[in-house]
Amino acid sequence: MSTRDPVDLDAQDPLAHYPRLFHAPRGVIYLDGNSLGPLPRHTPERLREVVTREWGEGLITSWNAAGWMAAPTRIGAKIAPLIGARAHEVLVADSVSVNLAKLIPAALALKPERNVVLTEAGNFPTDVYVIEGALRSSRTSYRLEIAPRTEILDRLTPEVGLLLLTHAHYQSAELYDMAAVTAAAHRMGTLVLWDLSHSTGAVEVDLSNARADFAVGCGYKYLNGGPGAPAFLYVAESHQSAVENPISGWMGHAAPFAFADHYAPAEGVQRFLSGSPAILAHAALEAGVDLYADVDMKTAATKARALGDLFLARVLADAPELERACPPPGALRGGHVALAHPEAESILSQSIAAGVIGDFRPPNMLRYGFSPLTLSYRDVAEAADRLTAVMARRRTQLARSTTL
Ligand SMILES: *Cc1c(COP(=O)(O)O)cnc(C)c1O
Repeated sequence: MSTRDPVDLDAQDPLAHYPRLFHAPRGVIYLDGNSLGPLPRHTPERLREVVTREWGEGLITSWNAAGWMAAPTRIGAKIAPLIGARAHEVLVADSVSVNLAKLIPAALALKPERNVVLTEAGNFPTDVYVIEGALRSSRTSYRLEIAPRTEILDRLTPEVGLLLLTHAHYQSAELYDMAAVTAAAHRMGTLVLWDLSHSTGAVEVDLSNARADFAVGCGYKYLNGGPGAPAFLYVAESHQSAVENPISGWMGHAAPFAFADHYAPAEGVQRFLSGSPAILAHAALEAGVDLYADVDMKTAATKARALGDLFLARVLADAPELERACPPPGALRGGHVALAHPEAESILSQSIAAGVIGDFRPPNMLRYGFSPLTLSYRDVAEAADRLTAVMARRRTQLARSTTL
């Protein structure tokens, strides 16, 4: 695209009609959809319907009549095209943390002769904590190894049973080449579990093409499913009949309503259900996911990156004291950007006061996210202008205080 004028970019944007489908508080430009997606306008009405009609009127019949029973697989099937999975490989359930707690032991049981789980230093904390918990709570010979990002491929040895990586880094927005890393792990006989929390809905993901083994992802970020929305998990079809869910609850049983004395796993990915699905939360997630129904992820990912590029280019040019801490404009990147500054926390408060909501990650990092459905190029250009105005004001104040 030759033009950099946000008005022209909006005019050419195939997703330009989406931002008005989201509620936007007056005066706010929301650049934190990578942490908690904003409210789709149709979600309150959808929730009211589930509460008053399905629950209030339908009562227990709604488990079947309103499709509550099928919600985890139905919504999973809707998420599948966003991550290059087949419909029957994705299930909505629990949180990312709990899904990791189910999939990690399931994966290790497929590699009983190995003894290392490998992950990246600086990975999202819950991923590492859950590996630690899984290894503590089972009588396993497995141990955790944490390697710097640049050494991950070198640390793949025949001892590594499972490699667990986050596809788009939550802080730096660096992206792994999923197909290349998965292939390198497979050459060593290692299984791979991808955390797609910061990817789904913002960048292109093709689990099938990468031949990924397992994945988890988040419902409350770019999928706009609401605070604490249910997460999802993916199990490649080739592993589905071999893996066991360590939380072998009745909803993952082959026949939950036979009330048998012993557990027998359901066919397919459904065995990774444990307890009853939280239907109100699933309804809000589905309302968010439905907005992606007609979205081509290549188009959405291109837009997310272009929004981030526009923001970075303007901010780095006009506020050079902010240091880029993510891949540069034009490079592959997750849906957000990161900027470092020793006074990041105070800059973020001023940014929020100026109506630009991003977030702060200690000790010195500002993050701004670019959800391709919820933002226009004009929003992002205006946000960049407001942030550079904040920085200009800080410079003036600093100059004044040092000349006094
Ligand atoms: C947001 C996020 C999670 C969230 O985990 P929950 O248990 O669903 O709260 C997990 N991993 C990564 C990489 C994330 O970005």
